[in-house]
Amino acid sequence: MRRRVVAGNWKMHGSSATIAVLLEELLAVRVPQIDVVVFPPIAYLSWVVERLRGSEIAVGAQNVHPELAGAYTGEVAAEMIKDLGATHVLVGHSERRRLCDESDELVARKFAATRRAGLAPILCVGETLAEREAGRAEEVVAAQLSAIVSLVGIAAFECAMIAYEPVWAIGTGLSATPTDAQSMHHAIRAQIRALDVSIAEDLRILYGGSINGDNAASLFVGTDVDGGLVGGASLNARQFVEICRAA
Ligand code: PEP
Repeated sequence: MRRRVVAGNWKMHGSSATIAVLLEELLAVRVPQIDVVVFPPIAYLSWVVERLRGSEIAVGAQNVHPELAGAYTGEVAAEMIKDLGATHVLVGHSERRRLCDESDELVARKFAATRRAGLAPILCVGETLAEREAGRAEEVVAAQLSAIVSLVGIAAFECAMIAYEPVWAIGTGLSATPTDAQSMHHAIRAQIRALDVSIAEDLRILYGGSINGDNAASLFVGTDVDGGLVGGASLNARQFVEICRAA
């Protein structure tokens, strides 16, 4: 039985004042049956780790550099993220693929660096609206996944998670239907199963894209949907807790 997980991607939002309130509200509630991870902006990572120490909420970084160390001004290495006490890293988020031109090759190197440091990657994949409308959604996601698996190897997926995030659903208020989400998750698991049955059975596949307190329960019905990656609604403690409860 896979344990459900709800992850909150705070993106480049918040201040020490707003994050302090959000953490206080999150710490006031317990949802012990699931795993919860929050991804604050890197500037607040260390502070959030300290505030959440001893709680059941894990903390991750939204990005990582693929190299161990070096002359890479402004970048953060996986070992540094680990050193701070964070446990997860988001890799391949569509905003980074699109806005920062991250290729599959770079995403794979970030995935590998994350695993090398003993951190858990959440690999994001998903199709654009044009690709879905052209009936190519599964083919596109399968190709994204194959590119990463062929670069890092299937064994690297032990301890990793995958987030299926249709690009058109991120931050738009439009979510996939529960049937479409389940069908894509099923296809992702089948692709992994063809390479390693045990990794596929343990792999947690999260849905992401405009999840909120109202639609979470229906999105989480699918047997291959193991939780959610939440953007906007993760900044609102009431919404985020509702999503955790739905999981
Ligand atoms: C995300 O950024 O990963 C995301 C799913 O955002 P939102 O929930 O706001 O669509």
